[in-house]
Amino acid sequence: FSAIGEDREVDRDEFTPGVEPQPTWCPGCGDFGVLKALKGAMAELGKDPEEILLATGIGCSGKLNSYFDSYGFHTIHGRSLPVARAAKLANHDLEVVAAGGDGDGYGIGGNHFMHTARENHDMTYIVFNNEVFGLTKGQTSPTSPKGHKSKTQPHGSAKDPIRPLSLSLTSGASYVARTAAVNPNQAQEILVEAIEHDGFAHVDFLTQCPTWNKDAKQYVPYVDVQESEDYDFDVTDRREAQEMMTETEESLYEGTVLTGRYYKDEDRPSYQTEKQSRGDMPDQPVAEQYFDEDKEWE
Ligand code: SF4
Repeated sequence: FSAIGEDREVDRDEFTPGVEPQPTWCPGCGDFGVLKALKGAMAELGKDPEEILLATGIGCSGKLNSYFDSYGFHTIHGRSLPVARAAKLANHDLEVVAAGGDGDGYGIGGNHFMHTARENHDMTYIVFNNEVFGLTKGQTSPTSPKGHKSKTQPHGSAKDPIRPLSLSLTSGASYVARTAAVNPNQAQEILVEAIEHDGFAHVDFLTQCPTWNKDAKQYVPYVDVQESEDYDFDVTDRREAQEMMTETEESLYEGTVLTGRYYKDEDRPSYQTEKQSRGDMPDQPVAEQYFDEDKEWE
């Protein structure tokens, strides 16, 4: 690795582990698209693997940090966000990315999702949204459409799916976007923006599961709401963002896949910035203080 922070050109292959485990994701799985976009985004930003902490939950998505070379923490189900928050608080120089599936993030870890968004911790949260629990053989998840049949809901789900973009906005996320594995260029651009954003950046990443969600869309054709002339809204306006999110979340289950940037608030300070401006968080990361011979511990 180069010295951290040194400007240099970074190749995406630098994020491929030296002892390369072959991904065990099924052929055609959308998770490959997340891996590719994340490697591309980190390379585009000139990041070193040792600057990054990737915390993942449980599920097919949780294998991400086996195939992405950086510091990694494969946590328990739904708990990638508290681990990511702790790491960021201990060392706020780290580029922190948390990742998990829709079951992991919107179901088991739903409470952490709301509160990490509310507190606006500076990190990127990628949710692999394939509308099922893939690793455990396709059970109904919080984003499965009403009527979706699985072994846990053999007569079809009677539940309305969660609205992850709206939940994120109302909880307090300061950057909210949706992209899809079938749209790799947009996915990389959105991840670059999310990683650069100072605050909680939530990316709902549509990832097709051809093994357990055969009936579901492959998320094509997709529409980029920033590219389409049919949509015109201000991503810095909360009310307009909410209306666009509602249309996006409803249309997904009617066969139209809308993606793009939905909300961006650059005025609201991240938790770290807020704390530092009050003088109750040291500029020096806690982790570094342990190696500071001159530090006087109280
Ligand atoms: Fe991907 Fe679905 Fe296979 Fe899991 S079960 S690796 S989500 S295709």
